[in-house]
Amino acid sequence: MNQHASNQSASNQPASNHSSDIRDEVRAGFAALYGYQPTSTWSGPGRVNLIGEHTDYNEGFVLPFAINRRTVLAIGLRDDRMARVSSSFADGIVEIDLDDLAPENVHDWSAYPLGVAWALGQYGADLSTVTGFDIYLDSDVPVGAGLSSSAAIESAVALALDNVWDLGLDRRTLAKVGQLAENKAVGAPTGIMDQSASLLGQKDSAVFLDCRNLDSEIIELGLEAAGLVIAVIDTGVSHAHATGGYAERRASCELGASLLGVNSLREVSVGDLPRARELLDDVTFRRVRHVITENQRVLDTVRTLRESGPTAIGDLLDASHRSMRDDFEISIAELDLAVETALENGAIGARMTGGGFGGAAIALIPAESLSRLQVAIDGAFAEHGYGAPSTFVVNAAPGASREP
Ligand code: ADP
Ligand code: MG
Repeated sequence: MNQHASNQSASNQPASNHSSDIRDEVRAGFAALYGYQPTSTWSGPGRVNLIGEHTDYNEGFVLPFAINRRTVLAIGLRDDRMARVSSSFADGIVEIDLDDLAPENVHDWSAYPLGVAWALGQYGADLSTVTGFDIYLDSDVPVGAGLSSSAAIESAVALALDNVWDLGLDRRTLAKVGQLAENKAVGAPTGIMDQSASLLGQKDSAVFLDCRNLDSEIIELGLEAAGLVIAVIDTGVSHAHATGGYAERRASCELGASLLGVNSLREVSVGDLPRARELLDDVTFRRVRHVITENQRVLDTVRTLRESGPTAIGDLLDASHRSMRDDFEISIAELDLAVETALENGAIGARMTGGGFGGAAIALIPAESLSRLQVAIDGAFAEHGYGAPSTFVVNAAPGASREP
């Protein structure tokens, strides 16, 4: 695991202050690179998962929200069949003839945007007739921090191409397009949560998503009325989805489901745990127990938010973290320290968020306790000799959109 290259300059300020700067920079960057003005500008947000981790690919429940950190892109149409993409994060322009678009022909970061173009073809776009395009993008979503900079790109590109190619696909389908791009073109076996949050999110609300049928409901968070904020504590330790632990955990869940005689762990619930204990080896049992209890915690969180508001969900967040640390074993020392330190410094609940093995934790905390939390986290990380973390507030923001 290594320190990731996040866009640190933006870390401690609300993104809303500079999203218009990003739009201007993106349009200027586009013109400088391609030599003409773009026709439209689009954005896709990163996301924070409030609760429901590693449940999406088990056809379970998740409760993410889109955040006020976004990937912004400018797009122009060409009169030939070239697709060209560039990013402030990488040198040069990557280009490919639309006739050559295939998962095996797209590489590195460009596999995200070009993979989306390919995946649109898999969802009904006739790629043999569409025109080529130029895209330039920039982002203030930290990369590899578990805030889904990947879905931010995918949703912005999917929405932009759906529009300029006049495809008329709905947002649920665009989420599947993003997932297909990530699974096949990038080669990361991720679920549907990130793209759904990035496309379906709404201001001050979370997206309660049933990953079995993609039914979704918007759940008001009510943070401001309760005087609460959600702080992200980015450990600076990068995860790597495409390899290792993530795929292993998926395999354990599949094994658990097949030994229990079900198609997915969605079909079992807390009442099935004693039987699972009998049938499964200890490791598989604990993986299964995490998924089963996490699904229940998502349902409990939705009910609690509705009945009692956000001040009452702290214990559920804490229990989720313990389950990921002890049963699913996807936390790391930095994330555990972030969670413990947050709970000792005013947080009413805290948990690691995202796929694990690095990335960020979230803390639900009274707004007035934020600076105390920041100081305590910095101090604790320094004391342990860990790299400097970055702690910042995220707001629940609207999903991918066209920018004025
Ligand atoms: P996460 O989604 O948690 O941030 P991922 O590993 O899923 O982490 O996706 C990160 C990858 O997405 C980066 O390694 C890079 O390839 C690509 N990426 C994200 N944001 C950008 C960007 N602004 N420009 C270019 N590539 C990006
Ligand atoms: Mg990702």
